Amino acid sequence: MAEDAKAPALHPESLLAHGGGGFDPATGAVVPPIPTATTFVRDENYALVDGDHLYGRDDNALFRKTETLIAALEGAGDSRLFASGMAAAAAVVRTVKPGGTILVQSGIYWGTTAFLRDHCAHTGVALHEADAADLSAFCDDIAATKPDLVWLEVPSNPYLKVADTPAIAALCQEAGALLCVDATAATPLVLKPLALGADLVMHSATKALNGHSDLLGGVVSASDKDSAAWAFICAERKMAGAVMGSFEVWLLLRGLRTLALRVERMNANAMALAEYLAAHPTIERVLYPGLETDPGHALARAQMTGGFGSLLSVRVKGSREDTLKVTGALSLFQRATSLGGVESLVEHRFTIEGPGSGVPENLLRLSVGIEHIEDLKADFDRALAII
Ligand code: PLP
Repeated sequence: MAEDAKAPALHPESLLAHGGGGFDPATGAVVPPIPTATTFVRDENYALVDGDHLYGRDDNALFRKTETLIAALEGAGDSRLFASGMAAAAAVVRTVKPGGTILVQSGIYWGTTAFLRDHCAHTGVALHEADAADLSAFCDDIAATKPDLVWLEVPSNPYLKVADTPAIAALCQEAGALLCVDATAATPLVLKPLALGADLVMHSATKALNGHSDLLGGVVSASDKDSAAWAFICAERKMAGAVMGSFEVWLLLRGLRTLALRVERMNANAMALAEYLAAHPTIERVLYPGLETDPGHALARAQMTGGFGSLLSVRVKGSREDTLKVTGALSLFQRATSLGGVESLVEHRFTIEGPGSGVPENLLRLSVGIEHIEDLKADFDRALAII
């Protein structure tokens, strides 16, 4: 696919299939090379041979190609890759200086909450945690705490709550707060927080963007590439050095080529499994915004397109021991943390987070992959039959 300024804008599926388009100008290869150089020469007049290439920590052509593709998916002004989702989140969090305030949605990815608590405790940043699914209370919290940064996760992990992103974004704008949405569990094909009014969107690229459970990465995208916050985040990536390795970026770009197909199948599987488990006599409750009975369904319908994501949680009718027995009896679902990979995973979050976390002992978090849906249902059917 040659680049043509006059061609109509391509759909995300086409952009993704071609890995962002173009080919290696040196060889005509349809797949870009992996840049391995960490340093780049200057000519006899001390000008860089290529103005875009100076040192490996700053940038390289493969970073830019991948970031440009992700920015197009997000409808963003610009994107930056990081060494992990947490490195991306940390760069955003560090935009808030000592004396500032962060308001974070409660009940989100435990690692983000743990990082925020620790970071704020030793940097003099005030941290407030509040349930974003209660819109009017969350809006009151914004008015009362006057945050510099509001952090949402849509949908949230592991409770699959859906915040009203446009309403919160409007209030943040009025209050002069930066809004960042972690949309990892949705993917940019399902949720576009920038179009809903957020300033920044963040993803753990370790999850569905790559989709093969074989790299760590993160990405932040900004609606306004000329903002002071974005300048800080870009400088932070370069100066604090949380860059992705070129090989990982190459793997990510390869993974992205099939993102649309994977997301389509994973969303369909998650929806079908959620419906199946919701009707199962041994399941107490399914947490999935795709279900019409889910409290977040109307908000999810209004904000998401093409499905409701591949993450869901279930509460088993039984004790912690029963729930662990079910987990142990699953054979297609692998017992491992993480989400967004082509293989289905199951996790007993209570075992990981412990009694103080508030995670119910009978909760299982499922990341639904691309297997045949009948095999996924049969796996649960067999496992649930043992309690
Ligand atoms: N955000 C969410 C919603 C996550 O689930 C995770 C990891 O599980 C992260 C961020 C952190 O990403 P990483 O593990 O790539 O640092």
